[in-house]
Amino acid sequence: MNTGPSQRTCLGSEEANPFVAVCEEIAWTARMLGVADGIVERLLHPERVIEISIPVLMDDGSLRIFTGYRAQHTLTLGPAKGGIRFHPDVTLDEVKALAMWMTLKCGVVGLPYGGAKGGVTCDPQQLSLRELEQLSRGYVRGIFPVIGPDVDIPAPDVHTNARVMAWMVDEYSRLAGKPVLGAFTGKPVALGGSLGREEATARGCVIVIETAAQLIGLDLSGATVAIQGFGNVGSNAARLLYEKGLRVIGVTDVMGGVYNESGIDIRALLDYSRQVGTVRGFPGGQSLTNSELFALDCDILIPAAIEHQITSQNANDVRAKIVAEAANGPTTSAANDILVDKGILVLPDILTNAGGVTVSYFEWIQNRTGLYWSEEEVRTRLEQVMARAFNQVYTVHQEKGVDMRRAAYMVGLGRVVQALQGL
Ligand code: GLU
Repeated sequence: MNTGPSQRTCLGSEEANPFVAVCEEIAWTARMLGVADGIVERLLHPERVIEISIPVLMDDGSLRIFTGYRAQHTLTLGPAKGGIRFHPDVTLDEVKALAMWMTLKCGVVGLPYGGAKGGVTCDPQQLSLRELEQLSRGYVRGIFPVIGPDVDIPAPDVHTNARVMAWMVDEYSRLAGKPVLGAFTGKPVALGGSLGREEATARGCVIVIETAAQLIGLDLSGATVAIQGFGNVGSNAARLLYEKGLRVIGVTDVMGGVYNESGIDIRALLDYSRQVGTVRGFPGGQSLTNSELFALDCDILIPAAIEHQITSQNANDVRAKIVAEAANGPTTSAANDILVDKGILVLPDILTNAGGVTVSYFEWIQNRTGLYWSEEEVRTRLEQVMARAFNQVYTVHQEKGVDMRRAAYMVGLGRVVQALQGL
């Protein structure tokens, strides 16, 4: 099997900085595809990056300045597309890396978009609803000149949701002097959002897990699952898998975790976490740490939090048969190689979590045509897109003798390169 970039590089920088990591992966993939140096150089540099200062009048009367970013990796294949995260660890390098991953992800599922990502360095849990709204609207005022339905279309990501998108699209429309619903996706359904968008990332992830399980002969009835993260993606994945009869035995979030060998009652956990704000302390199980979660004896491990959670430090502890990357970049390249060597099937992020951006694309189409689809139509189309992408990645995996992660990179990058080569 062709080994990936981690064999050739200093593990330290690759594991510490996602931007270094994704550049390494792109360079490696480009070499595998025989891409010309000039095109590789182009792909290693986002087309546009903007850093903004967002003043927010806090509830205590003080003025705080938050820093926000938007990185547009490619603006050549169509509008750029990608979420906005509100998180204390947001940096420019992280946003640039995430924008590159979005380019590759859109390539894997064949969407007519380039990649983008945005973020604000903040702790949204420390902000009141009013402060959060001011921050969201201020962010849009800052990036207004460089976004729009034909340029760059933001969406939710870590700690942002439909409500944040509602404020943002409203601010955008005010500045534009007309309603521009297609400027953002992941909006509330009443404001032009698509049915099925909220659970789309999780649903796409479940489709990929089901397809993979069938291929490796893993019977999913009663299969055990461990999930890191109980935000939009983690909680919806837990619910969908629970409804399908799988046993979710461990769940963690930033505050703590819960373990129950005979399966956690996910509906009760959803109610609990909605009320308490965390899964920690849930009465239907014992407490569980993140490192214990990664080491659980289970069939499927789903990292659904943030990047670089499974590293060379803890990859050896993983005992799952399948690692399904619902988060963006949760496994470092070095960790991926360790998992693959252990015989674990790693389902890569740019395939596994692409359901979100796919239904965002559906939402954008619905906004632009004014014709709104039923939930069933959204699901059917999502299934088609995910199944086609899975098959393409799996074929490259088999034909080229590379693992699924590198195969996904080859499919995603291949599409982008094809377009750039024609210029
Ligand atoms: N934030 C999601 C992602 O990382 C969705 C992006 C979008 O819908 O544009 O894929």
